[in-house]
Amino acid sequence: MLPIEVLRNQGYKITRPRKQVLEALEHTETPLSPYEIQKLLHEEGKHLDHVTIYRILDLFCALNLVHRVWSLGGFVKCTLGDEEGCHRYMICRNCGALQEFADKALCERENKVAERLGFHAEHHASEFSGLCSHCRK
Ligand SMILES: [Zn+2]
Ligand SMILES: [Zn+2]
Ligand SMILES: [Zn+2]
Repeated sequence: MLPIEVLRNQGYKITRPRKQVLEALEHTETPLSPYEIQKLLHEEGKHLDHVTIYRILDLFCALNLVHRVWSLGGFVKCTLGDEEGCHRYMICRNCGALQEFADKALCERENKVAERLGFHAEHHASEFSGLCSHCRK
């Protein structure tokens, strides 16, 4: 499903700022910070303030359209769609390549760990650091 359809299905309006932020993230594979998104849009004559961009990114993250890559301090569009399990990243420390993946069994295993400690987990986040298949050669 296209991001725009996801928004519409969830009852969100396709406002111009939302469309602009989506487009900014559409054409990049490296995570962008809110500041970089603002700069990119600014160069195209579109002006969004920080608060608006943050609010839009929060919504997109909640809808799984976009994910935050914590170790890189930026946001990227989701490449998995509604695949089950939390979406996570493997990040190559050499070339910076991002590999998004989801593993439901991994989530279940993590829930068990949490339950043992009396914690009810609703979401899991982890980022792997290492070498991608290309850089390992
Ligand atoms: Zn995803
Ligand atoms: Zn690599
Ligand atoms: Zn999970």
